[in-house]
Amino acid sequence: MTSRNLLPRKRLAIVAHDNRKAELMDWAHDNIAMLARHELYGTGTTGKMLEEALNLPVIRLLSGPLGGDQQIGAMIAEERVDMLIFFWDPMAAQPHDPDIKALLRLSVVWNIPMACNRATADFLLSSPFMAGDYEARQTDYSTYIKRKV
Ligand code: PGA
Repeated sequence: MTSRNLLPRKRLAIVAHDNRKAELMDWAHDNIAMLARHELYGTGTTGKMLEEALNLPVIRLLSGPLGGDQQIGAMIAEERVDMLIFFWDPMAAQPHDPDIKALLRLSVVWNIPMACNRATADFLLSSPFMAGDYEARQTDYSTYIKRKV
């Protein structure tokens, strides 16, 4: 086992599919004070909507179908994002379904806190760990490089 230290100012990646953007915006309004204390990243449209609605800086990545989910996945693997709020649509297939699966998978691989619905997002943001350090334990992959295949 090894660990990854999450500092008090967390780097949150936020994504919502089109049918869930209204719900995400509503949730974000309810949590604006907490969100303002952290560094926010968002996929293209979600990020723009958050920035405009909350009047908070959001570092915007590409739109999900254009590679934004993959960008977030890479940032998680490189320890440049600490948490994921991902309101994905359980009722509609997306053109970038493989990217969504990849993002969900990497969040588990790197053991980052991840919320895919509003209730879990509420629990995450109200956690005492949000305001302090958190030592996330994770599998040590340092010997994973395969020498022979
Ligand atoms: P968007 O991308 O924020 O640009 O809508 C999210 C997605 O559809 O995955």
